[in-house]
Amino acid sequence: MISSFTLENAIQADATDPLAEFRERFFLPTNDTGDALLYLCGNSLGLQPRAVPDLMAEELEDWARLGVTGHFDARRPWMPYHENLTANMAEIVGAQPDEVVVMNTLTVNLHLMMVSFYRPTEKRYKLLIEKPAFPSDRYAAESQVRYHRLDPADALLEIGPRDGEHTIRDEDLLQLIEREGKSIALVMLPGVQYYSGQLFDIAAVSALARHKGCAVGWDLAHAAGNVPLNLHDADADFAVWCNYKYLNGGPGAIGGCFVHARHADDSSLPRFCGWWGHEKSSRFRMGPNFHPIPGAEGWQLSNPPILAMTSLIPSLQLFHEAGMTELRAKSLALTGFLELGIRERLGGAVESITPSQPERRGCQLSLRLDGGSGHAVFRHLEADEVVCDWREPDVIRVAPVPLYNSFVDVYRFVEKLHLAMEATA
Ligand SMILES: *Cc1c(COP(=O)(O)O)cnc(C)c1O
Repeated sequence: MISSFTLENAIQADATDPLAEFRERFFLPTNDTGDALLYLCGNSLGLQPRAVPDLMAEELEDWARLGVTGHFDARRPWMPYHENLTANMAEIVGAQPDEVVVMNTLTVNLHLMMVSFYRPTEKRYKLLIEKPAFPSDRYAAESQVRYHRLDPADALLEIGPRDGEHTIRDEDLLQLIEREGKSIALVMLPGVQYYSGQLFDIAAVSALARHKGCAVGWDLAHAAGNVPLNLHDADADFAVWCNYKYLNGGPGAIGGCFVHARHADDSSLPRFCGWWGHEKSSRFRMGPNFHPIPGAEGWQLSNPPILAMTSLIPSLQLFHEAGMTELRAKSLALTGFLELGIRERLGGAVESITPSQPERRGCQLSLRLDGGSGHAVFRHLEADEVVCDWREPDVIRVAPVPLYNSFVDVYRFVEKLHLAMEATA
């Protein structure tokens, strides 16, 4: 870890960073005169790998040249196209290849997984989520509860931070599951909470929930590609994530889904079916009876959007080359440097509500400023060519991403934040 927040130390850290070359493999957004912006927003939309345009052009060419036979004869045949993503995706989330599939989008996958894993009975009917959850997750959860003709006021169980705190205490969460577990059908939590940046103990929570007989699923929107994951070993029933945040798949990218191997052949699970989930060898016999592909692929509905998958291939390849272990090591140093800068340069005027223990967070810090000046400061940062984001009611989220951000980026951010605070004081 870097001992003091200086430009020299930032330059030195970049010079010895084994992942530094990866920055060159992305397009950095620029201003009108072509200078790179200070981009610290990979938590919201990841950057475009430079390999994407050529790969997209190949698919467009194959379509133009081949028409329908591209399903078999394209350079990357379209029929099994999603399989191009499976191995790298499994590596990123710590799963076996047959446990992951790339399909649909996050909220759609969340619904499909709740159809299979939120199965309320008379005694065990509650759905546990965090509070306040990301709106889409809450809408999805509440609508599933209503779909089962239950009353959300009773069946939707929400756990939030204690009064005056910003993150959920691990012991509060575990105690709640311990106490209420018998009435909970599904525990559905974020890997990394979008607002606070809190990383949950996925293995411990999954183990306790399963011990209590609950199903357990994770929304990894802010965790996939941000922190190392071991979904298989953690024994979660399912997980879903989007691929446009840390995973750089492009705006609205196709989503990801994990179903644990123990469900691979379980025909007793209810599910909403579509032809792409049907056994590959007999899919085109067009029979009336659904026989699912064993594993996560059996939850696919439609033949998937090829171009949406194309734009995800290069980024997953970069993750494979860099390695999650190495990325995490850099991430800890980078975010540690950001925290150090805020403490040394901005003292008590800026508070990070993200846990200070590195094992309880990913790369993002959520910053709150004294005296409600946050939004004015955020506007000033935007005008000063910093890209980060504002989340109501009062945080600036900053995410130094280890694949393409540098220590000098972090140094410059703290300098610019300082300037913005002086200008709006
Ligand atoms: C980004 C995000 C979403 C977005 O859902 P989409 O279905 O991809 O639009 C949902 N939930 C969480 C927690 C997120 O961070």
